[in-house]
Order: sequence, then structure tokens, then C-alpha cells
Amino acid sequence: MYQDVLLHIGGKWRVSSSGRTIDIVNPATEEVIGKLAHAFTGDLDEALEHAAKGFAVWRKMSAYERSKLLRKTADILRERSESIARILTTEQGKPLAEARAEMAGAADVIEWYAEEGRRAYGRVIPARTPGVYQLSLREPVGVVAGFTPWNFPVSQAVRKISAALAAGCAFILKGPEETPASCAELVRAYIDAGVPTGVVQLVFGVPSEISEYLIPHPVVRKISFTGSTVVGKHLAALAGAHMKRATMELGGHAPALVFNDADLDAAVAVLAGGKYRNAGQVCIAPTRFLVQEDVYEPFLEKFTARAQALKLGDGLAEGTTMGPLANSRRVAAMEGFVADAVGKGATLHTGGSRAGNKGYFFQPTILTNVPADARVLHEEPFGPLALFSPFKTFDDAITEANRLDYGLAAYAFTRSNSTATALGASIESGMITINHHGLALTETPFGGVKDSGYGSEGGAEGLEPYLVTKFVSQAS
Ligand code: NAD
Repeated sequence: MYQDVLLHIGGKWRVSSSGRTIDIVNPATEEVIGKLAHAFTGDLDEALEHAAKGFAVWRKMSAYERSKLLRKTADILRERSESIARILTTEQGKPLAEARAEMAGAADVIEWYAEEGRRAYGRVIPARTPGVYQLSLREPVGVVAGFTPWNFPVSQAVRKISAALAAGCAFILKGPEETPASCAELVRAYIDAGVPTGVVQLVFGVPSEISEYLIPHPVVRKISFTGSTVVGKHLAALAGAHMKRATMELGGHAPALVFNDADLDAAVAVLAGGKYRNAGQVCIAPTRFLVQEDVYEPFLEKFTARAQALKLGDGLAEGTTMGPLANSRRVAAMEGFVADAVGKGATLHTGGSRAGNKGYFFQPTILTNVPADARVLHEEPFGPLALFSPFKTFDDAITEANRLDYGLAAYAFTRSNSTATALGASIESGMITINHHGLALTETPFGGVKDSGYGSEGGAEGLEPYLVTKFVSQAS
């Protein structure tokens, strides 16, 4: 089922010009399951040339025709979703049910932008002089270079590609080297739907070599990156130096506030689900659990029961509810965070170590009494670690919630409308969801503030970064 993964350049699926490949590993078994073609400068030059040509064709096609091709892409993806979901689980580790949900969401995103691209309206501005027409037009920004990570190999890529294509841009994607096949299958759906040559291309390689070559290149007019804040800052600086527009979807360290009046069962279901989904490798995963004093113990008890009931295993196996971490770096990172926190005085409430001796499995973990100087209270864990602490007042909770430079997602549970309203106004994050999990839907904006980045993906806002405004003033 799992096949070697190729580059897609100039309408062809092909190996790299150097013939170099790297191994792809199944994180549940640590076995090599395939080989990935690695692009070099010559391959990138070819992709850039084809992207420029593809853009010239695509931008002239009507939004109506582009929409038809995108809707066909969504249909193709739906037809292939089961087989791609299996590929995704094999290379990334997440349980098959999560991979299926990712595929269903991806087709929705393509359809949404197929429609939204037809509504990239401009404006007619009343003129000062009779016979003058003042037009504010929306045009595609040009060729986009996108860089997407391994945690959601399909979702992260589909949001960028679909919005860019709907706006009339061409796209060069540097996909995730560790989870490349499902991402390549996504790209195949656009190609098989009949999107013209050069409009969507796919490369893999050494991330820094590719970004440092593509971002300054004159053909590329915009970049979109999803990944860590440290890499995002580096790429944003590079984009700034070359006056390239940039969208940055970076890390998070989401606070989850549970008030005394919360529905605890609902809170546990949503927050434990959100914490351990994709083994915690989710930028919006709740991480700092701030629980008001009266309900701290009962909430912790219920949450712990949920964490301990998770069934770790190969994502393809029946009954698995949490898969392995995606790579060995994450296991080392979890071990480091736990050792550091416990060494500084934290209590290991449950989990805390690697599970089994094969595959990158790590136990669902809860730490309490975590001291303020523990690394995990400052750095994004990006894994199955939940950090619990009690709070007294609303203001205490807000101070802790807003303490970090991150500002991506926040969660809260309360039965009080006034508390909910005050939360919406006080939390410094790009997104907050109250009393349910309502984030990352196709039709709603997704993005962060502060060190979590800038720009939105998703919803009508997600089209904006791929459009530029041109003003035309015309006298008859
Ligand atoms: P990393 O920081 O090296 O890489 C993160 C992502 O950025 C990867 O997809 C990688 O290919 C890409 N990348 C790295 N250097 C790059 C460069 N110079 N140019 C272009 N792309 C580059 O580390 P990692 O071990 O892969 O992931 C660790 C951290 O990354 C996590 O702790 C998490 O904070 C973050 N991350 C965030 C997301 C997200 O959804 N926001 C996804 C994956 C990883």
C-alpha cells in the first residue's frame, strides 16, 4: 500500500535530479516503509519556471472555471479518502479515525475555497468627477511557496493550497519529509482533477536549503509557513528582507480555564479529547489546565481517568485511541520536559515515560505542582503532556493565561454568561472556544497573535493573504 514518494514538477511525478532519496519510517514500528525523493537547486529552478508559466495560465482562467476544477479535486479526494487515510496513519501514527476525519475535513476545505474564490469582490468607489470610475480590484498575489509540517500532513497543506488556487495563485509546496505520501496524494488530487501544469507542484528536501532558495527568488511573491515559532521567525525575517508577503501559523501553549460553575463532564470530554488527539502534536492542543479551586480535585480525577483509559497502539489497529509520536525527536523532547519539571519539584500524576520498546510511544501524562521555572511552562510541549494548576480568581486565571508570548488558542468552561463574555474580551489569543471545541472549522478563521504568528487560514479571512489590491482610476 505504501509507495515511494516522488516530486511533482512541471506536470510530472519524478525522482530528484540527483537521484538522492531519504528513508520514510513508520513511527509505530520504526520500520522503513518507503523512500522519498529529495529536491536540489536544479529541481527548484525547474519548479520555479513552471510555476511562473502556470500562474500566467491560472490567473487568466475565470474564478468560475477555477471553482469547477477545485470542486472536482474535492470529489476525487473523497473517493480516495479511505486509502489516503491509511497511508497517513502508517507514516504519521495517528489513529485511523483521526486520519479519516482529516481527509473529510480536507475535502470540505477545497469545496469551501472553490466557492469563496468566486466571491473575491472588489469595490467601486464613488468618484469626485462625473465620468470617472474608481475601481478597487482584487488580484492574485502571484507564485506562493508553502512550507507545511508533519503533524497534519494533509490539513496543513490543503488550507494553503486551496485558498491560494482559489485566489488565482500558483503554489510550490515543500511538504513534510517525514510524512510525505499522504501530502503527495493530496497534490495528486488537484493534478488528476485537471489543474494546469505548474499550478501545484510538490518538492521535498532539506527544509532550510529549500526555504533559503525559494523565499528570496524573484518568482516567489508570497510565503506561507506552519511550524515552530523559532523557524517561523527565521523565515519571516528572510521574507521581510526580500519584501515578500508572509503568513505564519506558529506554535501555541493553550490555556484551558475551568471555572467552579463549569459542566465538568463536558469539560473533561472536550479537553482530554483535545489534549491527546494526535498524541498532543497539535498547535492548538490545550496544555496549561487552570482549574478553579473548588473543582480542581474532581476535575483532575475525571481527567486522569480519561487519560489512563486511552489505548496506545498502532493507529491502524482496532481500538487504538492514541498512536505513537511522529518521530524520535518528540520522544526525547517529552522525556526532557518531564525530567526537567520533576527535577525542579513537579509531581508526576500519571504517565511520564516511553511506552513499550518499539515505536515512538509515550504515555498520556499529567504533571501537577509544576514550578514556574520548569521549561514546559514556557516552551510548547507538542506532545501528550497536561500541566495542571489551581487558581482562585478570574484575574489570576487571566494573568496566567496571558503570561506567555504565545497566543494561538484558548479554551474555557463556565456556566456564567458574564464570565464567558469577559473571557472573550480578556484572553490574548487568536482563537478562544468556550464550553465546547469549536476551533479549526473550514468556514472560520484560524490563526494566532504574538509569537504564534500572523495571518489567518480558514474562512473568508483565509483567502485574503493570497490577494493584492489594485486601484484603477479611469476617466471616459
Ligand atoms: P523544527 O522546528 O525543525 O520543524 C518544524 C517544521 O518546520 C517542520 O515541518 C520542518 O520541516 C520545518 N522547518 C524547519 N526548519 C525549516 C526551514 N529552515 N525552512 C523551512 N521549513 C523548516 O522541529 P520539528 O522537530 O519538526 O518540530 C518541533 C516543533 O515544531 C514542535 O515542538 C512544534 O513546536 C513545532 N511544530 C508546530 C506545528 C504546528 O502545527 N504549528 C507543526 C509541527 C511542528
